[in-house]
Amino acid sequence: MYTPFAVREPQRRDPILHEAPVTLTRRDALQKILWGAAAAPLVGSWPGIAAASRLPTTGNLSFHNLHTDESVAVRYRTGDGAWLPDGLDRLNHLFRCHFTDEVHPIAPELYQLLDAVRRRLGAVDRPFQLISGYRSPAYNALLRRKSGNVAKRSYHLRGMAADVRLDGVAVADLRRAAREISTGGVGRYTEFVHLDVGPRRSW
Ligand SMILES: [Zn+2]
Repeated sequence: MYTPFAVREPQRRDPILHEAPVTLTRRDALQKILWGAAAAPLVGSWPGIAAASRLPTTGNLSFHNLHTDESVAVRYRTGDGAWLPDGLDRLNHLFRCHFTDEVHPIAPELYQLLDAVRRRLGAVDRPFQLISGYRSPAYNALLRRKSGNVAKRSYHLRGMAADVRLDGVAVADLRRAAREISTGGVGRYTEFVHLDVGPRRSW
């Protein structure tokens, strides 16, 4: 089972709960206005999702969920770019809220992003260690009562974010690779990296 990591930086008192606020760049803001996303935050309208959908991927992913101790290795996408529902279902199940067991659809482009990051690192045979995928409103509310660091509108709530480590890869290298290719959010914590397909920002 997963236990919270030791903390080194006071402002990141609880590395699992903290999430930097969303700050749109001018370009992101303009795109959101053009696409009407500010009024209707549909998942498909985020620039980070559009960018992730164009990344080079292998179509394969493997994870170990540190909360539930479950592992999966799946093919979720064909070489032609067709989604494989069985693979996506298994990934979505692994990404479920471990507090309520609620399964929520995950933006498949988040899987593409993770796949592309791993591919870029030349580590396609190494499983991601999943710390947080989908977070249910009930779980997020509980976390918010415990800590002031929990984002009210976290991308974890939308099925658009993952907190991960990559087996055998330094957190700094994982973050660097993610920043090099992602136009979404990339956050580094002591022992893991937060990745999302929301607006471009990093911390
Ligand atoms: Zn996160």
